[in-house]
Amino acid sequence: MNLLKACNDLLRRDRIAEARVVRIEEEIARRGIKLNGRGSERYGPCPKCGGTDRFAINASKQVWNCRGCQRGGDVISIVQHLDGCTFDAAVATLSRQDPTRADNAKNAAPDLPNRGLKTRGRSSCNSDAERAREALAIWSAAREPQGTPAGT
Ligand SMILES: [Zn+2]
Repeated sequence: MNLLKACNDLLRRDRIAEARVVRIEEEIARRGIKLNGRGSERYGPCPKCGGTDRFAINASKQVWNCRGCQRGGDVISIVQHLDGCTFDAAVATLSRQDPTRADNAKNAAPDLPNRGLKTRGRSSCNSDAERAREALAIWSAAREPQGTPAGT
């Protein structure tokens, strides 16, 4: 069990790192959320609580905040905020975008509002099966447990 846990921890750390590579402004654009302003600071209505300018992102700092919801943070927390999902689910959503999304962004017109929605038919908060499959792949590729805590 310890080996499996170690695998899962590794997998989790890897996915968190992958998720943090996704840029806040790209995640916002992918969801078809339009914000005002130029440069690195953009603002607009909060997708959750409305208003006109209470929701803001800073692309150079890679942070967001909503004065209405009184929440803010990094790209992972913005997915938690928008999807109402857990940290792990947000990480799964974001890490799934990368690196294929880099190509999509180049090839697809950036102003297609529903660009991301079709490929996200699966709920972004429902990726346990996918994670389990990947964990299993790592498990299968792992060495024999003799000599490890798992062996005993
Ligand atoms: Zn809000």
